[in-house]
Order: sequence, then C-alpha cells, then structure tokens
Amino acid sequence: MLLKNSALQLAHMLAEGEITSVELTTACLQRIEAFDPQVNAFLFVDREGALETAQQVDDARARGQQLHPLAGVPIAIKDNIVTRGIPTTCASKILEGWLPPYDATVIQKIKAAQLPIVGKTNMDEFAMGSSTEHSAFGPSRNPWDLARIPGGSGGGSAAAVGAFMVPLALGSDTGGSIRQPGAVTGTVGVKPTYGAVSRYGLVAMASSLDQIGPVARTLEDAAALQELLAGHDPLDSTSIAEPAPKLLEAVRSGSAKGLKIGVAKQLMGEGYQAGVIAQFQEVIDRLQAAGAQIVSLDCPSFDYALSAYYLIMPAEVSSNLARFDGVRYGLRVQPEPPVTAERVMAATRGAGFGDEVKRRIILGTHVLSAGYVDAYYGSALKVRTLIQRDLAQAFSQADVIMSPTCPTTAFKFGEKSNDPMSMYLQDVATVPSNMAGIPGLSVPIGLAPEDGLPVGLQVLAPAKQDARMYAAAAAVMSVADGVGQCPAADWKVEK
Ligand code: GLN
Repeated sequence: MLLKNSALQLAHMLAEGEITSVELTTACLQRIEAFDPQVNAFLFVDREGALETAQQVDDARARGQQLHPLAGVPIAIKDNIVTRGIPTTCASKILEGWLPPYDATVIQKIKAAQLPIVGKTNMDEFAMGSSTEHSAFGPSRNPWDLARIPGGSGGGSAAAVGAFMVPLALGSDTGGSIRQPGAVTGTVGVKPTYGAVSRYGLVAMASSLDQIGPVARTLEDAAALQELLAGHDPLDSTSIAEPAPKLLEAVRSGSAKGLKIGVAKQLMGEGYQAGVIAQFQEVIDRLQAAGAQIVSLDCPSFDYALSAYYLIMPAEVSSNLARFDGVRYGLRVQPEPPVTAERVMAATRGAGFGDEVKRRIILGTHVLSAGYVDAYYGSALKVRTLIQRDLAQAFSQADVIMSPTCPTTAFKFGEKSNDPMSMYLQDVATVPSNMAGIPGLSVPIGLAPEDGLPVGLQVLAPAKQDARMYAAAAAVMSVADGVGQCPAADWKVEK
C-alpha cells in the first residue's frame, strides 16, 4: 500500500517522478472515504482544495520549478487551527457555521510549501480532554482497536495518521494533547518548545501552555514537519526570535553513546499500568547497554503539577472562551423574551458549549474570583515556578528526561468519561513540560504485553533544545522494537 510509506519516502517518490501528488492525494481521499465512517478522524474533508494544490504541485514540478521538500505530501489539520474559508469548529457546536476570514501562520507556511490540506480533524471540544469523547460530533476511534479511544484532545489527527489516511497532521498540546494521542495510537507526537512554532491562528485554550506541533508516523517525518512550521512570527508575541534549530540533522546524528538520561521517580509511580512500565524499563536498559548513562532524578514538585495545571488552565480557559458570546462567531440562540444582550449570550453559551467546557469555565472563574485568587490561582503559579526549578536542577544532571508518555495504554470508550478525575490523570507525565515551556515528544516503543496495545516513551529537553530532544528520541528508536503492524495497515480499500 502506497500510504504505508513515510512522508519523507513519499516526498522522495514525488521528487523522483514515481508518483504524482494528485495520485497520492487521491489515495488519501479514497482511504478516508472508505474508513473514516468507522474511525471518525475527520470533521471536514476538503477534497477539491486538496486536489487543486496537488495539481499545482504536479504542474510546477513538470515545469522544473524548485519546490519545498514536502511539497505535494498531504496533511490534516486539527480543527482548532484556523483555515480561511474552511470550517473551524474546535469540535464545538458554538462555532458551527463559522468560516475563518484568515489563515493561522502555520497554515500560511503549509500553503506556501504546497502541502495539500485534506481536511480538519476531530478533537475534544476546545481541546479539553484525553479521549475525543468530549467532541460535539462524536468520538474518533483508535485504529488499533475501534472499541478504544485514540487519545485526546488531538485524537483525530493521531487516528488519521495511525490509520494511514494521511502521512502528516498538526496537533496542539496544552497538557499532552499531541503526545498522549501519539502514545496510545503508536504514532509520533511532538510538543515543541513554547514559542518555537507560532500560535497565531490557534484557537486559544490556555495561552501560556498551548503549543502547535507535528503528528507523524516516524521521527524523521515529525522533524521535517517541525522544521517547516517553526520560526519567528511577529504576529505571536511569545514567538522566539531566533533561527529555528536543524532537527532532521539531529535525528540522523542521534546516538545513545554518552547520553545522560534522567529518569524521575515521580513520572512512573503509582497508577501506571505494569506493561507500560515494563516496556519503558526495557528500553532504558537497552539504552544503558548501548552506552547511555542513566541518572535517577527527584522532582518533588511534579506531584503537584497536575493539580496546578487544573487551576491555571481553567483560569485561562474562562478568560479565553469569553469571546464566544453569540455575537462575534458562529452560533446564536434566541432566548425567550425579554431579549437582552446578556440573555442572548447566556442562551448561546448554554446551548453551544458541552459539559466539560462548562465545567472548566466555571472552575476557572471560581479560582480567579476575589477572595479565592491567591489561594488557588496564586498557589498554582508558585507550583509552576517550583516545576521550573526542579527541571533546571534535573537538566544540570541529565541531558534529557525520559518517562512513559502516559500511565496506561488506550482505554475503552466510557471507561473514564463519567469520572473527570480519572481522565485528568492521563496527563500526569505530560503536563510538567507545558508548565515549564520545555519541549516534549512521544515515540512508540512497543506493545504492552497484557493488552497488545502501543506504549509511548516521552523525551523532555530544556527549552530551545528541541534538536537535543529529537537526537535522544532517535537513540530510543534505535534500540526499541517499534510497535509493529497496526491492524489498520491491513484494511483494504475496495476498488
Ligand atoms: N488532556 C488535557 C486536558 O484535558 C490536555 C489537553 C490539551 O493538551 N489540549 O486539559
């Protein structure tokens, strides 16, 4: 199957003239048509737009024009990244019918590099969740087992890539929404350093934590995509004004020899599935055998990271989501008379937001309210500082930190959706990096023996050391077994 190739292999085949972008894009669209009714990875498929870009790439190539290395390779976009003239719903009813009047900076870059955008992917509403069960348009399913969640919030992007519908996708990560879906679908998910990739045009969830990043099936593909996305953007005031690092080079030079790997006991304790820990430990042992040095770390603040995250994030959510007022975007619900502006807002927000979004807005306004702000929000900010200190200390002893990405493999639908606290625990290992702005990624390292489902390993590096993180992840891939064959690889498109 053509689509089993990586993005870089496909790019090579395009450059060699073995396939055209129209053929490749058509193959993606056919696979989406055949299997997305089961997987539900896509909220919108832009057949015409994708084929038009593909045709332009083929024409330009025929004329001998110099093209971007990824030109003609199809990509899918998480539906909280705005795309001009194409629905962007954040999987929420409140944005139904809204057509963005502009492109996010990452979309402008993708368009300039001529990657056909095949569509927008499903997610938890406004990126709040770990399973896509909070999508207003029904959950996405895991291509390893359709009875299980594909992770979240970016489950649609991970499922689309994992099911070979598309070789590349974009995600956003506020507390783990690129990495945890990567872990549970056996794909690669990267949260770059905060500010490395522009957030302009990413619908804000929690602005101090949000980061756009790549979703792919190989580390090289993720590196190539991050190189395309990264760079300073004057439209994002938190964008890093420095040249973007060379990541593909880093992947190719990665080696375990001499690498100092920190392992924090707080990132693999209680509540972790036995097979997840076993797979992780096996890879750490192999890295050590290959010449790495393993350093035990103690990061006591990590025990409070999740609690602090669930104060800071909702606080920012409550402020960011105030803009959805029934006036500026999408849905407007007429209230019973008397019709006042406030009653329009209340009726629209009441009907347009789902339960999880409402829960977080209420929590956020509470922790910011007079009398509580110091006790809750203020304390959480202090924990955030402690996390940054623990990490600074950790990186004085180790080059990178490794941990399981997520405490469990993919769980079944409904298992955690009625218990917000157990759902929140999915992020226990991923949240510290958002709190500190450092880069983190997840790579697949094998299958858990008890359920045969993929396990992800997380690599963390200091801020702006994304290249070091990719190099260390390459060392991991060189000793890990990989996840083998996803059942989706055997799904056949009926001719
Ligand atoms: N699962 C986490 C949450 O629900 C992370 C979300 C995210 O990274 N967007 O907040």
